[in-house]
Amino acid sequence: MSLLVVGSIAFDSIETPNGGIKEALGGSASFFAYAASFFTTPRLVSVVGEDFPEEYHQVFKERSIDTAGLVTQAGQTFRWKGRYHQDMNTRDTLEVHLNVFGTFNPVLPSNFRDSTHVFLANGVPALQARVLEQVKKPEIVLADTMDLWIENQRADLLALLPRVDGLLLNDSEARLLTGEDNLVRAGHAVRKLGPRFVILKKGEHGAMLFSEEGVLVIDPTGAGDSFAGGILGALEADGNLTPTNLRRAMAYGAVIASFTVEDFGLSRLRRTKRQEIDQRLEQYRKMLTI
Ligand code: AMP
Repeated sequence: MSLLVVGSIAFDSIETPNGGIKEALGGSASFFAYAASFFTTPRLVSVVGEDFPEEYHQVFKERSIDTAGLVTQAGQTFRWKGRYHQDMNTRDTLEVHLNVFGTFNPVLPSNFRDSTHVFLANGVPALQARVLEQVKKPEIVLADTMDLWIENQRADLLALLPRVDGLLLNDSEARLLTGEDNLVRAGHAVRKLGPRFVILKKGEHGAMLFSEEGVLVIDPTGAGDSFAGGILGALEADGNLTPTNLRRAMAYGAVIASFTVEDFGLSRLRRTKRQEIDQRLEQYRKMLTI
């Protein structure tokens, strides 16, 4: 078993009603890999610029994330500026500077090609496809995307969807992708585009799973990529994709995301012990069964 993630590594500048932060380590692949590292040793494929400091490389090393696929290229690291609203669901992108991430052409290290679990974190759909082509025999492929790619790279995204097992989207992205206002209809419509299952994130209102078993609602959720890292990390640790494992993995994802949102950037996750995650999962399980 082995888990591969490709996606962005960014300097995030964030505004929230409770304060903000400038140029913190973030990016879809960072949150995912850090969250998944509580379950397994994720293999990270991404790109940074020459301005990426050594202390941030150490953040990945402290969790034994395999950075053999992390390349440094001439230019600047991806920068993203966003504003989260009080409900943590609505997120406005204020600035995106793709920089080295915009032209990144990933070549997987040869020992990454046998990865069984693959997360195509938020990023250019053609880049997500190129990574998938280099993985020999993936067992589970989960993808994420966002409005920028749905609007600007729709054809590439639609070509990718039949090749993935699962797709993560938030509610507004599902509406944008399908043109359906009603979320349940939108979830089913996304499945028709190819993925076997679809996880719709609804901010503080949790997430909905659409699969052949029907619809499941789980609560709560938070930062999307660490939610995904918890899901695929737990699935990889379990070994196979059964309906029960998928439900438990979503609960793990929600628990990890609940840690992430307690502080800015990766700060809270960096103070989190695996034991705390299992304790919170247990509280969460009790809460659901009362
Ligand atoms: P989320 O966890 O879903 O709230 O996503 C926020 C993360 O996505 C931030 O750390 C950003 O750096 C990253 N991000 C924002 N826009 C993009 C984009 N267009 N492509 C890849 N990553 C992005």
